[in-house]
Amino acid sequence: MTGYWCEYAELGAGPVSGVRVVEEAGWIVAVDRAATPGPGDTRLAGLVLPGFANAHSHAFHRALRGRTPERGGSFWTWRRQMYAVAERLDPDGYLALARATYAEMVLAGVTCVGEFHYLHHPAGGGRYADPNAMSEALVQAAADAGLRLTLLDTCYVAGGLTGSGYLPLDGVQERFSDGDADGWARRVSLLTERPGLRTGAAVHSVRAVPAAQLGTVACAAAGRPLHVHLSEQPAENEACLAFHGTTPTGLLAAANVLGATTTAVHATHLTDDDVAALGATGTGTCACPSTEADLADGVGPFRRLRDAGSPLSLGSDQHATIDLIGEARLLEAHEQLVTGQRGPFRPAELVDALTVDGHRALGWPDAGRIAPGQRADLVAVRLDSPRTAGCPPEQLIRAASAADVHTVLVEGRVVVADGRHVLGDVGRLLAEAIEPLWASA
Ligand SMILES: [Zn+2]
Repeated sequence: MTGYWCEYAELGAGPVSGVRVVEEAGWIVAVDRAATPGPGDTRLAGLVLPGFANAHSHAFHRALRGRTPERGGSFWTWRRQMYAVAERLDPDGYLALARATYAEMVLAGVTCVGEFHYLHHPAGGGRYADPNAMSEALVQAAADAGLRLTLLDTCYVAGGLTGSGYLPLDGVQERFSDGDADGWARRVSLLTERPGLRTGAAVHSVRAVPAAQLGTVACAAAGRPLHVHLSEQPAENEACLAFHGTTPTGLLAAANVLGATTTAVHATHLTDDDVAALGATGTGTCACPSTEADLADGVGPFRRLRDAGSPLSLGSDQHATIDLIGEARLLEAHEQLVTGQRGPFRPAELVDALTVDGHRALGWPDAGRIAPGQRADLVAVRLDSPRTAGCPPEQLIRAASAADVHTVLVEGRVVVADGRHVLGDVGRLLAEAIEPLWASA
């Protein structure tokens, strides 16, 4: 057993001072008030929060950070650039990039990541000897970086949707496709769960999975986490309305894709009926504010979704930054800019999105709280940095950044201490993974 004495700890109803957390074999076994550390306890300064869940990640997009064209471009020009990177990755390159990206996440307090994974097959066609070689690279990357993984294996079988129907796959999109949803389900069934790995499913979007195949994916998910990019761009809505006569949300509802184990990612351009349908079915929403800002997507109705009954989680998605506290702050900032009202989310609601509701979206109900019986994931954030000094602990989420995370435990293992990851120089790992991808461009 190991004791951790926390200067302050977030126990669910705001920070409490002087808390002793006892960990055994990766689980929290006791949480008690204690004015001072016990003999042999490790002291954790600042505010200790439950581990963060990064509910939406495409690890390989990390290679695109800082590569925005000088004149900006659009979501669609960004996508062409992203495809160029996708074309150059093999399992070894994918492992190196994902390992470094996940290590950067742990430095930011992330103890569990949901990887929305669609880079399945070799560039130029064919199959790897192990058809899940790219998935296995992600599993290895997460293990090396020291965090849990929910692999949201993504069905992607069409090249797009227009008002007159689905487009064939084009170029690099061939890598994403298993032919059809049945082929996708067969491959996914070969991947087995193991400690630290939960398998889930994803519909890439209504652009990439024809309506007639949506039910196959929902059925194969069978109660496991099921994620879907939803209405990120107006063009998706327009094409869906023109061809199907309903919104993407309406299409998903008709195919039984919505429900309590489903999470809609972005949910940016929704009608009132869409918000009501997502809320009534308990479908979760994952906001990715730094990505939505970077790609000029717009601002989703996240406050209204939460009020309608949709649990809210957060993701760093394309990793323009990896700062989950920053995502929470941006969520609030965007809502304020749109509504003209301050404080649309209470700090406790922002913490819930980062912790307990994020883990719920990724299928880990036994993580995301500091309580006996929960996985021993702890994130200690400084209260004495230039950013946080003078800030009351209950408002820390509105002031801190990833740079203020000093210690991270994942299931009792210290993965980050004094702001340093056990893998060492994460900046160097990122440079070594990313620079060769552009050198060959
Ligand atoms: Zn995404």
